[in-house]
Amino acid sequence: MSFCCGASMIGALGSLRHYKTQIHNVPILYCPVCNRIDVHHDIEEEYEILSEYAHADMAPEVDFKEYVNGDMLDKIFENCISIDNGNISMVLRGQIDNALDLMSIAKQLDDKEWAEDLKLRLNKLSQRLNRWESQSKKSTP
Ligand SMILES: [Zn+2]
Repeated sequence: MSFCCGASMIGALGSLRHYKTQIHNVPILYCPVCNRIDVHHDIEEEYEILSEYAHADMAPEVDFKEYVNGDMLDKIFENCISIDNGNISMVLRGQIDNALDLMSIAKQLDDKEWAEDLKLRLNKLSQRLNRWESQSKKSTP
């Protein structure tokens, strides 16, 4: 499990840019609070090799999925708390619930600094949730 800013990072397949090459379906972990994106550590080497080759070939885009098998992808996401399979609002709601739980603990402990951190995190998570939900409303007729 990976954490960033105290929130658990979300496992997803994303597109990354390496110089001029767009690499699709790369297993990544991203933080819903600060938008940090990490290439999943289990495939970091494969990603580096593939991106170097793609760059050398001057390929405009490559699909990482063609270089890993499905089993490997399943294994990669075993340790992630949540898999982003399109339903990110559910994931975000879960993270908001977590943060609210922690918030009540922080209040019980009278830990003001922690409560303040959690408040910031909650704000960002709910902003993202709102943005996501208004986006997905727009795309559905
Ligand atoms: Zn973060």
